[in-house]
Amino acid sequence: MSDFEGLRALVTGGASGIGRATAELLAERGAQVAVLDLDPSSVEKPLLAYRADVTDDASVRTAVAAAVTDLGGLDVLVNNAGIGAQGTVEDNEDEEWRRVLDVNVLGVVRTARAALPHLRVSAHAAIVNTCSIAATAGLPRRALYSASKGAVLSLTLAMAADHVREGIRVNCVNPGTADTPWIGRLLDAVDDPVAERAALEARQPTGRLVTPAEVAGAIAYLASPLSGATTGTALAVDGGVQGLRLRPV
Ligand code: NAD
Repeated sequence: MSDFEGLRALVTGGASGIGRATAELLAERGAQVAVLDLDPSSVEKPLLAYRADVTDDASVRTAVAAAVTDLGGLDVLVNNAGIGAQGTVEDNEDEEWRRVLDVNVLGVVRTARAALPHLRVSAHAAIVNTCSIAATAGLPRRALYSASKGAVLSLTLAMAADHVREGIRVNCVNPGTADTPWIGRLLDAVDDPVAERAALEARQPTGRLVTPAEVAGAIAYLASPLSGATTGTALAVDGGVQGLRLRPV
């Protein structure tokens, strides 16, 4: 399949996990792909790599401009860079709130702002934001992270409305617990990672974690002309966590 033949894509946070799987899938399907990441040292050809911090507007502008020049334009932006946070509203001070919102929310805004002039002149423009089930699920001890992803969901809808007449589609994916290095780091931090992983898996209707490739598949669909009539939506990639009620009522 070559759904992305001739298309040019930029993936933030594309050096690891979901972003990496997405960059690789888009490239396999025929796109030219640029990765923007804090640490792109592990990114290999044919992917292009640009070092940037999404909390730094100047670095985002410089990296997006360089990527667009090297790609010869831009059709697809995947806003995927993000960080986690745990705790209730009492557990994190303002500084931590600002740090996480700066990456997860303003990071999306900065990259979109730099990319929009280029997307506007594309014939197949699409933005896909990596959101989370945390945006709508009411997860315990995830106040800050949930608020950040709630903002990404709202931004997705607002941006979809603002840019629909310009031919730019904007959608997001809501992954459940996906088996990325991020989850690996969380498991490494507990006393019994094997038991914790088993407990995480047991909470999934499918009995297993979501794979990065499965999230990448959903992102690729929303980024491709195959979803040409779809904008302002959130696609769950959560193994049924939000949609299914497995216990009898
Ligand atoms: P990951 O930690 O494996 O990868 C995140 C990537 O983002 C890394 O390469 C990192 O260097 C980059 N990054 C972080 N901060 C950055 C910054 N300031 N500037 C540029 N790059 C930066 O994580 P992942 O699990 O692949 O998560 C990717 C996205 O998926 C995030 O937005 C996360 O919120 C979302 N998500 C993940 C899960 C999950 O269970 N893994 C579930 C729902 C949503």
